[in-house]
Amino acid sequence: MPVLLLDLDKTLVNVEDFTDYCSALRELEARGFAATSAGPETYWGKCTKKVMDILLSLSGDEWIEANKVVERYEIEGAEGAVPMPYLQYFLENTLDMPKAIVTLLGAAATKRVLERFNIAVNAVVSREPGIKPKPHPDPVLRALSLLGASPEKAVMIGDSEWDELSAKAAGVRFIAVTNGREKHFFTTPFITRDLKEAAHLVRKL
Ligand SMILES: [Mg+2]
Repeated sequence: MPVLLLDLDKTLVNVEDFTDYCSALRELEARGFAATSAGPETYWGKCTKKVMDILLSLSGDEWIEANKVVERYEIEGAEGAVPMPYLQYFLENTLDMPKAIVTLLGAAATKRVLERFNIAVNAVVSREPGIKPKPHPDPVLRALSLLGASPEKAVMIGDSEWDELSAKAAGVRFIAVTNGREKHFFTTPFITRDLKEAAHLVRKL
C-alpha cells in the first residue's frame, strides 16, 4: 500500500478561487517585493502565480514579512473554499493509506481547510519558514520523513506542474489531476481527470 502525498489547493479543496491573490500581490508590490525566480508554468490565475513566484524568490525576514501578507488573504479564502469533485469518495477509498498534505498554502489557512472538510492526515507540510517550497523537493522529502516512508513507497497527487516537479525531484511517482484541463505540461504517465480516477489509479500503482 503506498503512502500518499497530497497537494491541497485545487486537488482536494478549491481555495484559490476564494482567495484575493490580486490584492495580496498589490500589497507585496507596494512593499517592494518582486520575484527574481519563477516556478513552472501552470494554470493558476496570473496574480496567484506572481505571488507564489515572489514567495519562491524570498528568504529570511523578507519571506516572513511577505508570507504574513499572503496568509491574511488565504485565511479569508479558507472560509469560502469548496471541496473539489469526489473529495469524499477519494477519502473513503484511500482510508487505508497513510497521508500527508504537501501544500504551498500558509499554515493557518491549511489548518482551517483541513478542519472545515474533515480531512484526516498523518502529517502536514505547508508553506513554512526554513523549507524551500515546491517546486523544490524539500517539502516532499520533509513529508516522507514525517511519515517514515521512502520515496519508492510514496505517490504524490496534485493538480499543478509545481507539484509534479517537486515529486520528481524527490524521486516520488506522481499522479496528475487535470480537473479537465486540456493544455498542461505534465510529463507523468499517470494522468487523471479527477479524484475519483485518481483513487482508482493509485490502487494499481
Ligand atoms: Mg494545487
